[in-house]
Amino acid sequence: MAINVDDEHVNIIMRILLDAGEPVSNREMEARARQMLGDKWKRSWQITNSCIRTALRSLGVVSHPRRGVWGLEPNAEARLAALHDVDIWKEHIRIRDAERASKAEAAADARERDKTDLLDLTRRLVETWGPPGHEHRIRDLIREEVADLADEITVDGLGNLICRVGSGGPKVLIAAHMDEIGLMATYQEPESGYLRFTNLGGLRADTLNGNRVLFEDGTVGVIAAQNGSGKALGDFFIDVQAGGDGNATPVGQPAGFMREMQVRGQRVIAKSLDDRIGCLVAIEAMRRLARQTPNELYFAFTVQEEVGLRGAKTAAQGVHPDIGIAIDVTGSGDQIRGHKMLVKLGGGAAIKVHDPGLIVPLAIKNWMIERCEADGIPYQLELLAGGTTDASAIQMADAGVPSGCISIPTRYLHTTSETVDLSDVEACIALLTGLLANSITI
Ligand SMILES: [Zn+2]
Repeated sequence: MAINVDDEHVNIIMRILLDAGEPVSNREMEARARQMLGDKWKRSWQITNSCIRTALRSLGVVSHPRRGVWGLEPNAEARLAALHDVDIWKEHIRIRDAERASKAEAAADARERDKTDLLDLTRRLVETWGPPGHEHRIRDLIREEVADLADEITVDGLGNLICRVGSGGPKVLIAAHMDEIGLMATYQEPESGYLRFTNLGGLRADTLNGNRVLFEDGTVGVIAAQNGSGKALGDFFIDVQAGGDGNATPVGQPAGFMREMQVRGQRVIAKSLDDRIGCLVAIEAMRRLARQTPNELYFAFTVQEEVGLRGAKTAAQGVHPDIGIAIDVTGSGDQIRGHKMLVKLGGGAAIKVHDPGLIVPLAIKNWMIERCEADGIPYQLELLAGGTTDASAIQMADAGVPSGCISIPTRYLHTTSETVDLSDVEACIALLTGLLANSITI
């Protein structure tokens, strides 16, 4: 078969169709061909030049342009490969496939790198020491991470790290707490050196036995229960004996729990995901906004949430926001005999409707839901029976601040093996970024 492969029109049309890999509309063909051929592209030939039409048909171009769409027969590429006089397109197909493969590879590499970066930051966040009232180390870490992502960074009198992004427009206070549950040594038994302690935040007695804690001065302690088990904090003590060297004496010092982060597929298992994963969501939203927003944003990495939302109170009083958003973990109802709760891991960002400290205003709830619907972000509604977040404090500031909460579904809260799903984390980042990148009309 003789084919007019030298004709530029045939050449260009074939290239466009091979590259597209799907039908191309008349208008799109016109635009792309003009880009490549300039004024040499003649529309009239389509109808009049039967030689070219025949050539195209024999190469597997199925629809006549007058029908509004161009396409290739399903087996067109295989047929091209069998033709001996169309090396020009065989080469084009080879180059195109190589380009597609390398693009796909680059995209996969970028995704993998993003995931690695995200996990690396998560690991540093959860493994950094910072019980309530002693957030200096975690604050230093976050300040370094956001240094280039904010227009102004301040630390208020209580220790909140407050990062302003943008100016003018509604003021939004976004709060993620930096502190983690911990304890403080209150008394040392004179003979044995065993420590008694009080809680900093909600310690669960059933998770204490055998756990390790790290005191401010670097002393490692092991929590043990009197008579092997305990129900109240008073049933436990901390072993800081050092054998021949004597005992450590960290009375008055705070301690945080010790546990390395682990990754199991999409699941991240760590201590202090409450609320370091909320800090991660806020940091990552700042990174994606890249200081572009029509609003005036205040990202507050708050202190002392676990002992009564104290940081959020002063942050709100300092910022005077129009809207408040807390980013925090919530429970999940998907465990054996778990709570009667809608939220489950892998179900998307949890949009809070209610908890014992906050009834989310309809306008805030709908604002979040509509963003998810518009951007195709998976979400679920959160009704939490116990506990609350920084949003409860923010809503009570000034003459009242409409406030909501984006929650990351989490299992085994306030244990050293809190567990989240990365797809939920991504959904929360996408939702927060989307809310803040667009003009707010509430
Ligand atoms: Zn929390």
